[in-house]
Amino acid sequence: MSYATNLRCRECHREYPLAAQHVCEFCFGPVEVTYDYDAIRRNVTRAHIESGPASLWRYHDFLPVDRQDAIDIGAGFTPLIRAKNLGKALGLNNLYIKNDTVNPTWSFKDRVVAVAASRARELGFEKLACASTGNLANSVSAHAAAAGMEAVVFIPHDLEAGKIVGSSIYGPTLVKVQGNYDAVNRLCAELSSTYPWAFVNVNVRPYYSEGSKTLGFEVAEQLGWRAPDHCVVPIASGSLFVKIKKGFEELAKAGLIEPKATRMSGAQATGCSPVATAWEEGSMNFRPQRPNTIAKSLAIGNPADGYYSLVQLRDTGGACGSVSDDEIVAGMKLLAETEGIFAETAGGVTVASLKQLAEQGRIGADELTVAFVTGAGFKTLEAVTDALSPALEIEATVESFERAYEAHAGKSAPHLVQGVA
Ligand SMILES: *Cc1c(COP(=O)(O)O)cnc(C)c1O
Ligand SMILES: [Zn+2]
Repeated sequence: MSYATNLRCRECHREYPLAAQHVCEFCFGPVEVTYDYDAIRRNVTRAHIESGPASLWRYHDFLPVDRQDAIDIGAGFTPLIRAKNLGKALGLNNLYIKNDTVNPTWSFKDRVVAVAASRARELGFEKLACASTGNLANSVSAHAAAAGMEAVVFIPHDLEAGKIVGSSIYGPTLVKVQGNYDAVNRLCAELSSTYPWAFVNVNVRPYYSEGSKTLGFEVAEQLGWRAPDHCVVPIASGSLFVKIKKGFEELAKAGLIEPKATRMSGAQATGCSPVATAWEEGSMNFRPQRPNTIAKSLAIGNPADGYYSLVQLRDTGGACGSVSDDEIVAGMKLLAETEGIFAETAGGVTVASLKQLAEQGRIGADELTVAFVTGAGFKTLEAVTDALSPALEIEATVESFERAYEAHAGKSAPHLVQGVA
């Protein structure tokens, strides 16, 4: 049995049963899953978690799904890398990368979908749907395939080829909408009131967003059961940003880590920066924007959790980076060249923002800092192809290689250099 008890309104705290409902009937505030933390504290130990599977289901006690109902295609428990090289480049002595590029469909969305899809099936839904900036559609399609459910996924018409093929391959009904994500999301909100489908980020959004907490759980466990000093997290709707912190807080409530005032910093592309702009202006009310950025997976102009993201930035003493498309590409290259991780544009936003905040002195050199890299680079090849050095093109002869290599490297091939065997 799950320890989840209710859905509770974030604003007026009215409680509801654990159904497919995402807003409060009284005040229209968002509802969130609550748990019996006393029971969790009594029953759940570090050893129990450590003996669980190498997926996010090792934290099933903190998730709103019965363990035996999990749709598990291996989401989560991704590497936490000590990023010495990138840290050196940025003057950060205690930097880690949470590498969520290596999930089953190559983005952190597998976490939210694993939880939402499992709960949807538990609630009796037969079809999964979503409004997606790309990665969510990939993950919903894959989880539906594995669960034997049908998928109907809605995307903006202008997504990268990798994100389109990355959905189609699993056989969903793929719907390209003439409009940006915010239009897709509005459409899905309307459809969800008439179609009896689980729209993972609309009517079952409270379960969806619980999946993001597992990034906080993992980071704490992988750091030896402690929360970091500072996190840098990309913001689209803001759900991930808010829920990583909830993950640390729940572990502390359960007595599994010491409470810590982790600073939470955000990362946005300047071309879609409603949260960063409001934060810079010291405002708690963001203005919706019309996105124009290569970071399409973060291109939400009217973020559902934008307000709560601003609250969290203020309450934790975090900052919010805002980076140009050129900086995003440079961030992707920097991460690849220093740590061997090929991230998509959203990862470029994170790394470029990390650099920006470090240069502004907003991240302490010795703070234990974790940067969240949330999607893989093969999905957004378009963004970097023109920015990379071309291959050497040669005939299949030693001579042809040596000519090309010397011209490229500006030096002689090894056996022509004196003293080198
Ligand atoms: C969706 C997404 C995010 C952010 O998600 P939100 O919870 O909506 O803020 C970050 N990175 C990638 C790669 C994503 O696909
Ligand atoms: Zn309410």
